[in-house]
Amino acid sequence: MRLKDKVVLVTGASSGIGLEIARLFAGEGASVVAVARREDKLAALVDQITAAGGKAVSVAGDVTREEDIRNAIRAAVETFGKLDVVVNNAGLMDRMEPVAELDDDTWNAVVDVNLTGPMRLFRGAVPEMEKAGGGAFVTIASVGGIRGARAGAAYTASKHGVVGLAINVAYAYAKKGIRSNVIAPGGVSTDILTGKSLSREGTEVYMAGMATNPRMGEPIEVARVALFLASDEASLVNGAVITADAGWTAY
Ligand code: NDP
Repeated sequence: MRLKDKVVLVTGASSGIGLEIARLFAGEGASVVAVARREDKLAALVDQITAAGGKAVSVAGDVTREEDIRNAIRAAVETFGKLDVVVNNAGLMDRMEPVAELDDDTWNAVVDVNLTGPMRLFRGAVPEMEKAGGGAFVTIASVGGIRGARAGAAYTASKHGVVGLAINVAYAYAKKGIRSNVIAPGGVSTDILTGKSLSREGTEVYMAGMATNPRMGEPIEVARVALFLASDEASLVNGAVITADAGWTAY
């Protein structure tokens, strides 16, 4: 029970990496607040956790909306009494467009979800963590947040931005017992590219590096790293960016 008595809010808990994080954390004793837009998926997750003897509630919400984020944080405090951990996981991939192909709508949508959303979560959750006497943020960025050519211009910029934001938070609140760490996954088998028609030029340029990727990861492998960072076992780890990429960036 590595998260016994911890209250954890996970964004993007309706699929992929966020879903595995919610399940794993609940199994480790956390009370989970699962946030995403697809209510049916969240309801199924909550049923599954509850049936296994865990604690979870779902809050339907869009991380681009301040009101929804406030509502999710309020739900954590009202339902479980406090907020200890936030996992900034909700994310949106671009279509691998290089900058000359990028339109404003794509830029705004990707930056809103991947960068502005986490900012709103940090801003809203820090005061609650201060009240709880400390806390931990885990941000799921990407190797696209530490390398220049793993995705299109918008995704790459948004993930670089969120890495900077997360480590800025790490130092700002270190003396208050709040930690903030980042995971940079490589390729993970999820639905993140499902239904996207990718830029031909971007795919050719950026996917060339896939040949150096030793293997794809599974969502649970990222969730296990998040579990360590969220738990008190990582008490000295703050402001770190941990790759979970099978060694892709080691090349
Ligand atoms: P999925 O597409 O499976 O999951 C994305 C999640 O984000 C869904 O639960 C979705 O829920 C949620 N989401 C998207 N937009 C919003 C929004 N506006 N408000 C609330 N929730 C939202 O992808 P992954 O599991 O792969 O992605 C999880 C994270 O991992 C992302 O940050 C991604 O960038 C990162 N990542 C993924 C990699 C990969 O190869 N898969 C590699 C590196 C990083 P809903 O639609 O119900 O709102």
